[in-house]
Amino acid sequence: MSNDKNSSAPVPSPNFVRSIVDADIAAGTHARPGMPSVITRFPPEPNGYLHVGHAKSICLNFGLARDYQGRCHLRFDDTNPEKEDQEYVDTIMDSVQWLGFSWKQGGQEYLHYASDYFDQLYAMAEYLIENGKAYVDSQSAEDMAKNRGNFGQAGTNSPFRDRPAAESLQLFRDMKAGKYKDGEHILRAKMSEDAMSSPIMTNRDPALYRIRHAHHHRTGDDWCIYPMYDYTHPISDAIENITHSLCTLEFTDHRPFYDWLVGTLAEGGFFTPPVPRQYEFSRLNLTYVVTSKRKLRQLVDQGVVSGWDDPRMPTIVGLRRRGYTPEAIQLFCERIGVTKVDSWIDMSTLEGALRDDLDPKAPRAIAVLRPLKLIVDNFPEGETVDCSAPVHPHHPELGSRSFPFSRELWIEQEDFMETPVKGYFRFTPPTADKPGSRVRLKYGFVAECTGFDKDEAGNVTAVHVNYFEDSKSGTPGADTYKVKGNITWVSAAHALEAEVRLYDRLFLDPQPDGGGKDFMSVLNPNALETVTAYLEPGLKNAVADQRFQFERHGYFVADRVDSKPGVPVFNRVTTLKDSWAK
Ligand code: ATP
Ligand code: MG
Repeated sequence: MSNDKNSSAPVPSPNFVRSIVDADIAAGTHARPGMPSVITRFPPEPNGYLHVGHAKSICLNFGLARDYQGRCHLRFDDTNPEKEDQEYVDTIMDSVQWLGFSWKQGGQEYLHYASDYFDQLYAMAEYLIENGKAYVDSQSAEDMAKNRGNFGQAGTNSPFRDRPAAESLQLFRDMKAGKYKDGEHILRAKMSEDAMSSPIMTNRDPALYRIRHAHHHRTGDDWCIYPMYDYTHPISDAIENITHSLCTLEFTDHRPFYDWLVGTLAEGGFFTPPVPRQYEFSRLNLTYVVTSKRKLRQLVDQGVVSGWDDPRMPTIVGLRRRGYTPEAIQLFCERIGVTKVDSWIDMSTLEGALRDDLDPKAPRAIAVLRPLKLIVDNFPEGETVDCSAPVHPHHPELGSRSFPFSRELWIEQEDFMETPVKGYFRFTPPTADKPGSRVRLKYGFVAECTGFDKDEAGNVTAVHVNYFEDSKSGTPGADTYKVKGNITWVSAAHALEAEVRLYDRLFLDPQPDGGGKDFMSVLNPNALETVTAYLEPGLKNAVADQRFQFERHGYFVADRVDSKPGVPVFNRVTTLKDSWAK
């Protein structure tokens, strides 16, 4: 296989789509000389940014192509000129590539635009009209809606349904020539004489073309009629010799029209069989997020988030900025699988994939997020002792990192308790009948708490300890000190002061838009907390997108937008454990 980029992924597990593909290959269903037996496509509309739901479709379509030595086309379904833009085309291409996939193969680019087919789509529409399979309807939008009927109630034929083909053809040409205003006429299919009473609503003379006097981001003002999605999609698939056209379950009812359209046009000589076939799978519903471009746009437009790439957004650009890896997203998609059953996937599955991906590869580092001063009173002022720690506890080959120990350190506020609760093993002050607790300052020394300072408001401002010079981690003396507490720290004079953004889920409700709920009313007010943290000094060299595990705190990434050389800003990708599990 010539496409290396698509080849690094978790081992695929069987699913119903793979079973269909296997059977089709065995039966030669889509066999064409010189062509792969699996050609899929990912067909986004360039009207917004891709989200995690799209990632499922991308991993499925590009993953099949990869695993069956086929290919996957990236096709922009750009038939709604008012809503689409080049900005979205660019970000979609970027997101697909970032996820680890490519539409280039064997020196060929399989990058397509439905708008490239506008001429062909138009010619096919004329063919359908000439053959009595489409007609121009001149009803008002209201009448059309009324006459469509309802579920369980047959529709009524349009009074224009039987107008002569020549008349429809002339009207259609005049529509194209710009002689009519938006909405004056519409081209509709006539799948059969009694299609308006079909139990499947989408069979009731579906619209093929509508008038839109709108500028298109690629074809400019060439057209004032635009083909509908349901008409464009099957034809684009057939033009590109797609074998398996995978879409989400809500398109199940569109399949009869899909088959009718490509079948009819194949009979008309526009395509050579075998024609593509549509298969439906369940869309991804992920808890604690919304995956609808419209709703995501609302979050951006109303300033709830800072933009499409806000690290709280479930967009690909948001997940990327948050610190997710392409491998973690691919692993997630592999784990959730592909079925025909609609269900909700728990957010912890995505976070779990991230942890599983990062744990073996993220370098470790120390960060103190909620600092409290620790003063080692018996350590000489102005001096330092070098301490070292492995870059990764399971990969000694990655070497070690070092950082200084000094008289004044930062520790976490939670690592001192004036009046300890039962089972608390970190610093506690001496009492009348007991000395202060002894704790190991990880990778450094054991120290014993001797007291603490408080301000007038009663806040603890510093903790005092004495250290034991012969207790240094990694030296023979270390073992003679038996302590239960082991805490992280950084040297106050050497630490890197940095902005750290503690991101959490954007919504409090696991199904923010479930059951018609208003997702804007269940926003998590604590989805972003910004702290000034003290970090291990070596982190000043962190570069944008570099990920770390901050011991005790989780996985963090140097923000790709706001980090400057020497001044990284960190985002928390996720905590070490699932803190949302009940
Ligand atoms: P939205 O409703 O967010 O606008 P869409 O389905 O209209 O999404 P498209 O750009 O048309 O967005 O989607 C491109 C492809 O991604 C389609 O084939 C669609 O089936 C698939 N897709 C979109 N959302 C999901 C999802 N949640 N799970 C799986 N596939 C999805
Ligand atoms: Mg769509």
